[in-house]
Amino acid sequence: MNTTADPTDATPAAFCDQCGEPADAAGHTACARRRELEPPRYCGQCRRRMVVQVTPRGWTAKCVEDGVRTA
Ligand SMILES: [Zn+2]
Ligand SMILES: [Zn+2]
Repeated sequence: MNTTADPTDATPAAFCDQCGEPADAAGHTACARRRELEPPRYCGQCRRRMVVQVTPRGWTAKCVEDGVRTA
């Protein structure tokens, strides 16, 4: 595996943040649609369930391993 790090390149999500299945699996069409409306439920990096809080500006989703994502 090529481990050359490019700091400008964010780690691609390994898992679907809506259903928690591997991101390269089929059947995420509905997830992509739902992502427009709803905050993520699973961390794309480690598949943990995230703690989601809806805020006036959108949402925050916190993974204990990978930190906070915001809308
Ligand atoms: Zn999905
Ligand atoms: Zn995570």
